[in-house]
Amino acid sequence: MATYKPITPQELPKFAGIKTFMRLPHTRTLADVDFAIVGIPWDGGTSYRTGQRSGPDAVRKVSVTLRPYNLAQDIDLFDACSGVDYGDLAVIPGYIEDTYRMIEAELDSLVQCGVIPIAIGGDHSITLPELRAIAKKQGPVALIHFDSHTDTNVQYFGKPYYHGSPFRRAVEENLLQPNHSVQIGMRGSVYSKDAYEDSKTLGFDVIPMVEVREIGLGPLLQRIQNRVGEAKVFVTFDIDVVDPAFAPGTGTPEVGGFTSGEAIELARGLKGLNFVGFDVVEVLPDLDVADLAALVAANIVYEFIALIAIGKKRAAETLGRV
Ligand code: MN
Ligand code: MN
Repeated sequence: MATYKPITPQELPKFAGIKTFMRLPHTRTLADVDFAIVGIPWDGGTSYRTGQRSGPDAVRKVSVTLRPYNLAQDIDLFDACSGVDYGDLAVIPGYIEDTYRMIEAELDSLVQCGVIPIAIGGDHSITLPELRAIAKKQGPVALIHFDSHTDTNVQYFGKPYYHGSPFRRAVEENLLQPNHSVQIGMRGSVYSKDAYEDSKTLGFDVIPMVEVREIGLGPLLQRIQNRVGEAKVFVTFDIDVVDPAFAPGTGTPEVGGFTSGEAIELARGLKGLNFVGFDVVEVLPDLDVADLAALVAANIVYEFIALIAIGKKRAAETLGRV
C-alpha cells in the first residue's frame, strides 16, 4: 500500500516548496488515502467581518513546521495512516446555494471512497454541505461543536443559509443525531435570556463557557465522550471558541475563551471516538496577528490527524490479534 506522508526537511528545507498542509503531497488520488485535507475558501456566509476565504492558505502556510511524531499521543501520524492535501474546492462567490451543491458533490466522492475529510474553512456556513455529504454515506451522525456561538439561528434577513444557522438546518435535514451531539464553549453577550434554549430544543447538549469553567476540562471531556458513545461523529471547530488573545484572526471574536493550550487538550481528549469527518473554520488572516489564529487552527488539524492515526493503529492491532 502506498503511504502518502509529508516530505522531510532533509529532502527540502521547510521554508521552500509549494505550501500544502504539513507538506503532504497535493494529489486528488483517493486510493490508499485515509484522510484528505480540503480547503474551502468561502466567506459568503458571514454576518460581520469577511476574509475567511483566505483561511486555507494561511493555515497551510504555518503548518509546514508540524512534525510527524505526536509525543502527547505517543504516535507517529504516518506509521498507521496515509494522507494527502486535496487542495481547495471550487466555490462561486456570492452564490451560496450553488456553492453548497459543489462542496457536497466534491466531498461526496471522497467520503464514498472511505476517505475522512478534514476541511479548512472558510466561514461556518460550509459545515452544512459537508454534513450533507457525510450523512449521505453514514446516515445521521453525532456532532461535537466547539464554538462561542450555537449557530442554530432560524434565519438571517429571511434567508436560510449563513454562518449562524448551519446546525439548525442540519437537524431539520436529518443529518445529525442531536441526542448524541454536543455544543461547547458558548459565551458573550446574547439577545435574550433563552439564547441557548433553541439549541437545547433541537436536542443538543449545550455546555456554555460558564459551565466549562465550573466543571473543568477533564469532566467536560468525559461528558463529551459519554454523549457521543459509539456513534459516528463529525467534529467542527470554530476558531472563535479560542480566546481572541490566542486567535485574534477571526470574524466574530468573543472574549473569555479557551487558551490555545486548552484547545489542544480538548482535541486530544476526543481520542477513541468513531470519527467520520472534521473541520476547522472561521480563520480570518487579514485580522490575524503573527499568524496566531492560523497556528492554532493548524495545530488543531494536526491533533485531528493524530485522532485518525490512533483509530487506524487500534484497528490494525485488533486485526492482527484475530
Ligand atoms: Mn460558528
Ligand atoms: Mn463562532
